[in-house]
Amino acid sequence: MSDCLFCKIAAGEIPADVVYEDEQVLVFKDINPKAEVHLLIIPRQHIASLADIAEEHDELMAYMMRLLPRLAREQGLEHGFRTIINTGRGGGQEVFHLHLHLLGGSTLSGF
Ligand code: 5GP
Ligand code: ZN
Repeated sequence: MSDCLFCKIAAGEIPADVVYEDEQVLVFKDINPKAEVHLLIIPRQHIASLADIAEEHDELMAYMMRLLPRLAREQGLEHGFRTIINTGRGGGQEVFHLHLHLLGGSTLSGF
């Protein structure tokens, strides 16, 4: 996906404040944080949104989920955190490369 912002970040073509990376995922700070801690977890593989997830992605999705509490601990969020996946225009998605938001720091307001 040559015109995808997050593919470019994953490829190192656009700089980002990366806090974790491995063969499957990249984790970096949101450029416009909505909380003291606001990370984005993306698969290296281009998947446009959660609406495009299929059985072949089961392992990857489980992997990203399991990474969340570990990242939260590393960010000092032992008391809790929030995860969000905006899906589609109606769900407020702006970047069409699947990403999980990890938010925390101060106590987050009710949803
Ligand atoms: P969405 O609304 O698609 O769920 O969230 C997209 C997020 O990506 C937003 O929170 C926005 O601040 C963040 N974002 C957009 N462009 C960039 C960028 O170039 N770098 C980083 N680090 N975050 C970005
Ligand atoms: Zn992409």
